Order: sequence, then structure tokens, then C-alpha cells
Amino acid sequence: MKTKSFKGGIHPPERKRTTESFPLTPAFPSTKMVWIPVTQGGMPNTPLVKPGDIVALGQKIAAADTNMSVPVHASISGIVKKIENRLVPGNIEVPCIVIEADESGATAFMPPMDPFTCTKEVALERIRDAGLVGMGGASFPTHVKLKPPVGTQIEYLLANGAECEPFLTVDGRIMEEHAAAVVDGIAIAMHITGARTGLLLIEDNKRWLLPSLTKAIADQKSNPVGAGAHSISVKVCRTKYPQGSEKMLIKAAVGREVPSGRLPSVVGCVVQNVGTLKALSEAFRLGKPLIERALTISGGACGAPGNYVVPVGTLMGDLIPEVIPLYPGVVKILSGGPMMGCAMKSAAFPIQKCTSGILFLTEKETILQEESACIGCGRCIVACNCGLSPVLMDRALRADNLQEAIRCGLLDCVECGSCSYVCPAQIQLVQRFRVGKQRVRAARQKKNKESVDGTVR
Ligand code: SF4
Ligand code: SF4
Repeated sequence: MKTKSFKGGIHPPERKRTTESFPLTPAFPSTKMVWIPVTQGGMPNTPLVKPGDIVALGQKIAAADTNMSVPVHASISGIVKKIENRLVPGNIEVPCIVIEADESGATAFMPPMDPFTCTKEVALERIRDAGLVGMGGASFPTHVKLKPPVGTQIEYLLANGAECEPFLTVDGRIMEEHAAAVVDGIAIAMHITGARTGLLLIEDNKRWLLPSLTKAIADQKSNPVGAGAHSISVKVCRTKYPQGSEKMLIKAAVGREVPSGRLPSVVGCVVQNVGTLKALSEAFRLGKPLIERALTISGGACGAPGNYVVPVGTLMGDLIPEVIPLYPGVVKILSGGPMMGCAMKSAAFPIQKCTSGILFLTEKETILQEESACIGCGRCIVACNCGLSPVLMDRALRADNLQEAIRCGLLDCVECGSCSYVCPAQIQLVQRFRVGKQRVRAARQKKNKESVDGTVR
């Protein structure tokens, strides 16, 4: 099988061996409490419950008020204790609904639904009602992604199983243990988008998944449940970071370039993470909302590295030490992988729908050196998979020249961190680009507000 790839990129140490054979294992803290963020992907939600309310597993507890958001559901049955702010990745405080578990076992799933016989509008409504968002990290509402703009023809449904971040192995486990649900999710997504070809994309360090995936695809073909089931196949891409980025995956899989500032649908593609596709299948077949999260917990300071399944809203800190003992010497806690993850001040944050991993890193695994002066080596330019000039963007931002940084491609940066990784001067390029993009967004919002206020006056 020929492997595919894209230009640029890097090969950081994979560090996946520790957990890749560790099966998905349910875990729940002895505190029997969850802190469920009211909003997880899209626009802000409104709580539907108050302290003292009794809730069932899967019951809607926060409503989505716009099409660009999804509701949130109770991940355990129990009693609502309070609604209070908690720090989440991104280091912002958000309101969370705190539930204490009871022993009732009450559930409030939706009735199962056949995605191939209902209308596409009804199917999209089910996906939204189930609270589905991208589980690869982006948290973008799934029903919006599966409804491309009018007039767009979708040819390819790409199932993203690249999992290119070091340490993370949860998507691999989902593909191994739930291959049939992932393939079913692909067929459903193809049916809804009208895609004629479904490609399940893995990197060549996960060839061990081929028997399970090809068997699941063959089973689907022998018992087709909907249009598209016969055109799903597995494609193997060369292992390289950041293969899991949508634009890189499209380039590697079908050789198409997504133009600057445009969506994958303009080149006939929709990309969905494999975990999201499993959840998509369950939303129809079981009527199950997105209430649990499988994630990798690892790092050199983690005493029980593995792949765990927890109710959404579980506080990472509540799993320590009974489920996850730590060794002394934790110098960094990351939500996500080491390349794109978010450093956290403590472990007392809730695991959300988009949390693919949590790492406890030692000094050896972390770059803690000070920045030095740029030596003009150009390695950042070679590493950038988006064809940008990180060194020039950095110079523009240091000079406080946002317009020049935008001209150099700041807004096309996918924040993969490859440039920072290769920089011999340890310059914090991606960190500066993240802040720069936030400043551009804030400036644009201010300008829009001023023009609206001016119109009203
Ligand atoms: S400039 Fe952005 S897209 Fe390019 S390597 Fe750096 S972080 Fe990645
Ligand atoms: S890799 Fe670092 S030192 Fe080399 S040109 Fe880029 S910013 Fe400068």
C-alpha cells in the first residue's frame, strides 16, 4: 500500500509505545462528582437546571440558543449541587454544572433512529440534539460541518485517524476497539453530505490497525446499510507531524489545497475525527448523547499511563492518586498533546468533549531554555507545512506591526508548533502567533462593534 504525505512538517519522538496497547478503560473518581462546562463548542449555552434538581444520565442540562452551538447533557445521574466557575484549557473560567452521582441509574437517552431512512434535516437535528462536536480538539459543532454551504458538492468524507501528536494513542484504541462504529459513522456522514468516497486515514505507525479496520469495512460491505457503504477504504499516510491538521490531511489524501481562509468544502472534502464518527453512530443507533470522553493520560511523571473513558466533566485532579498516581517531578501539565496542547496551572480542570489527552511531563520532556537571538537559519520556513515564513511573522509581531504579520500569513497559521520545535534559538514562535491572532480577532471585533454602534446612533 503506497503511503501519502504533504510538504514540510517534522518528526518529533512519537512516545506512543507506553499506551498504544493499553485498552480503553472506564474510570470514575471516588468523589462521585462532575463539573460539566455549560458551553462546549460554539456559542454560549443557557443552563436548564438549578441546584437541587435531579438529573438522569443523558438528560439535556444546557440549551444551545443558536445553530452555531450544541446542547450539553448530564454525564452521570444524580443531583445538581451548584453552578460555579472553573478554569478550563485556554486558562479561562467558565460556568460548570456540578452534579453529584446517585445510585438511581436513571437514563434519558433519545430513541434510536435510522439515519438512512429519515430526511437529512432530521438527521442533522439528531446530531445537534446529541451535542456532537469535533473530538479531535477543535470542538466545532458537527451538524454545521456536515451541512456544507448551498451549492457545494462534497466528494470525499475523510475520517481523521492520523493522531500525529506525540504521546496520544486514544484514536488508535477507538479504531481498534470500535472499528464497526467508526465505519458506520463514516457511512452515515457520507449519506448526509452526499460524499461518494469515504477514506479512513491512518499514519504508517498504525499499520497494526489494518486487520480490524479492513474487517469492519468488509462487514459493512457484506451488509450495506446505506448509500456509500461500498466506497469506504483505508489509506495509509507517511507518519509526519501535523498530518492530523485538516488542510494537511486533505493534501496528503487527495492532493488538493484548501485556499487561504476557506473551508475544506470548497475542495469537495469534509473531515471528521474518528472519535466523533463513533459518537455519530451511537447518536443514531443508541440515541446516546455525547456524555463520555476517551482520552490518553500519559507523560514521564504519570504513574499509570493509559487510555481511559470518563464521564464528561470529570475533574482530572479527582482521578489523582487513586486512578492516576503521579511520580515526583511534574514540571508541566498539558491538556492535549505536547505540540498543540494547553499548559495548565493545576490538574483541577474538567475533562471536556474535546479533551483528547492529558500529560504530566518531567523536566527531561520539556523545553525550558530561554529564547536567544534569531540566527537566520531558515529552519522554521522549511518546517512550516503551510508555506509561511515564521521568522518574518515573528519580526513583524515584535515590531508591533499586525498588518505586516497578516501580510506574511499570520491568519493562515494553524498553530501546529513545528516552527518552534525546530528553532535552534528556542524562540517561542507559535506562542507569539497565538497571541497575535487573538489581537487581530479582538481588533476586528472592536471595529465591527464601533461600526454597529455608529449605525445605531
Ligand atoms: S507558522 Fe504556524 S503553521 Fe507554520 S509551522 Fe509555525 S505554527 Fe505551524
Ligand atoms: S528557526 Fe529560529 S533561528 Fe532559525 S530563522 Fe527561524 S526563528 Fe530564526
